[in-house]
Amino acid sequence: MSGEHETVGHPLWLLAELTYRCPLQCPYCSNPLDYADQAHELSTRQWLEVLKQGRAMGAAQLGFSGGEPLVRQDLPELIAGARGMGYYTNLITSGLGLTEAKVQDFAEAGLDHIQVSFQASDPELNNALAGSRKAFDQKLAMARAVKAAGYPMVLNFVIHRHNIHQMPDILALCEKLGADYVELATCQYYGWAFANREGLMPSRDQLVTAEATVNRYRTDLLGRDHPMKVIFVTPDYYEERPKACMNGWGSLFLTVAPDGTALPCHSARLLPIEFPNVTEQSLEDIWYRSPGFNHYRGDLWMPEPCRSCDEKGKDFGGCRCQAYLLTGNADNADPVCGKSPHHDRILAARTAADHATAGLEDLIYRNARNSRVICRG
Ligand code: SF4
Ligand code: SF4
Repeated sequence: MSGEHETVGHPLWLLAELTYRCPLQCPYCSNPLDYADQAHELSTRQWLEVLKQGRAMGAAQLGFSGGEPLVRQDLPELIAGARGMGYYTNLITSGLGLTEAKVQDFAEAGLDHIQVSFQASDPELNNALAGSRKAFDQKLAMARAVKAAGYPMVLNFVIHRHNIHQMPDILALCEKLGADYVELATCQYYGWAFANREGLMPSRDQLVTAEATVNRYRTDLLGRDHPMKVIFVTPDYYEERPKACMNGWGSLFLTVAPDGTALPCHSARLLPIEFPNVTEQSLEDIWYRSPGFNHYRGDLWMPEPCRSCDEKGKDFGGCRCQAYLLTGNADNADPVCGKSPHHDRILAARTAADHATAGLEDLIYRNARNSRVICRG
């Protein structure tokens, strides 16, 4: 084994963002703002080659996401190929475009896990956020179909100020559907969610109420010996220390974007860094030797206050994308950190969330027109 392989571990998680296409229009979508100008997608053969290389490097967990991965007609072929290589495969879907027959096809192809996302606990809000009159009913039907096919029911709700008050109803809906795992993930402010941050960020009061509701519900589930597991991911904007983003840059996670651009996380595309492409370099070259993946490994790149901080081994200075979006320089400490000289930007966002009045109609929805307007000015 070479020295570089000893100091840099291998990727464990591979996220295959098969496409940026999606029939929905969530205003918190994590796809790039300029997704409409990034229509090129890897072919089936190219994806299978990427998966093969990733597996040979030791990647074991594979996520198929997007956009909406179901728009790729070759999904069963990709699932079967990945399963044959020995990956644990996970499909992350809105449920739109899914049918009972497709769930069966995927099961036969060897898919291990399906996660269905919801926008809200009632059809009105869900469909307004998703931009589809049929979305909620389709999601309900597909969540049931996933369970009927023998999969655990894994439901995901992205939480923000317009649905956080629904927490009791969301949990009750999940229980009624027979969910095994529920992920309540507060918006992460990248991509479209960053463009809409003022209209999406919950106030501290909303958050405290929601957390108390989730904790009460968990206690109640426990008391009834109910197996449903609930994870609530709260926003780091209300923390004083940043998250250990991706467990460290280029340490475990490797994302491949629809056009083959390889990224240390799905948001990193927004950084002013040149990232390699799987059509031009092997995945091994990309992971171990590309300037993009080596850019923020280790801690020599860190300026103060991170450089001399005794917590840098815990959080790696936080999130580079958040540092870039909030300070204009991705080298800076993540402003979530109370020691960051830019922490005032987080405090200002909290104050704005306490006073925000934006309604659903004020949000910028993800669609091709908005993408082009935002990115071309
Ligand atoms: S967040 Fe919404 S718009 Fe974005 S890919 Fe997922 S379902 Fe589609
Ligand atoms: S100063 Fe940097 S390393 Fe220290 S806690 Fe803050 S973000 Fe983490």
